[in-house]
Amino acid sequence: MIENAVEFFKNLPPKKCTECGETVSEQHECYGTKCDKCLDFK
Ligand SMILES: [Zn+2]
Repeated sequence: MIENAVEFFKNLPPKKCTECGETVSEQHECYGTKCDKCLDFK
Protein backbone atom coordinates (compact mmCIF):
# COMPACT_ATOMS: atom_id res chain seq x y z
CA MET A 1 0.00 0.00 0.00
CA ILE A 2 3.01 2.25 0.48
CA GLU A 3 3.68 2.05 -3.26
CA ASN A 4 0.29 3.58 -3.94
CA ALA A 5 1.19 6.58 -1.78
CA VAL A 6 4.41 7.05 -3.71
CA GLU A 7 2.55 7.01 -7.00
CA PHE A 8 0.09 9.55 -5.59
CA PHE A 9 2.85 12.04 -4.78
CA LYS A 10 4.58 11.41 -8.09
CA ASN A 11 1.44 12.45 -9.90
CA LEU A 12 1.18 15.72 -8.00
CA PRO A 13 2.18 18.73 -10.08
CA PRO A 14 5.33 20.53 -8.90
CA LYS A 15 4.76 23.60 -6.81
CA LYS A 16 5.75 26.91 -8.33
CA CYS A 17 6.91 30.06 -6.62
CA THR A 18 4.13 32.62 -6.45
CA GLU A 19 6.72 35.37 -6.88
CA CYS A 20 8.93 34.32 -9.81
CA GLY A 21 7.40 31.07 -11.06
CA GLU A 22 10.40 28.88 -10.18
CA THR A 23 9.62 25.28 -9.24
CA VAL A 24 9.60 25.03 -5.46
CA SER A 25 11.13 22.03 -3.73
CA GLU A 26 8.60 20.02 -1.72
CA GLN A 27 10.75 20.29 1.38
CA HIS A 28 10.02 24.02 1.45
CA GLU A 29 6.25 23.61 1.54
CA CYS A 30 6.20 24.61 5.21
CA TYR A 31 7.30 28.09 4.11
CA GLY A 32 4.45 28.45 1.66
CA THR A 33 4.82 28.61 -2.10
CA LYS A 34 7.97 30.66 -2.58
CA CYS A 35 11.42 29.58 -3.77
CA ASP A 36 14.67 30.12 -1.89
CA LYS A 37 15.41 33.40 -3.66
CA CYS A 38 12.05 34.95 -2.86
CA LEU A 39 12.18 33.68 0.72
CA ASP A 40 15.24 35.86 1.19
CA PHE A 41 13.06 38.92 0.64
CA LYS A 42 11.26 38.77 3.93
ZN1 LIG B 1 10.71 32.85 -6.39
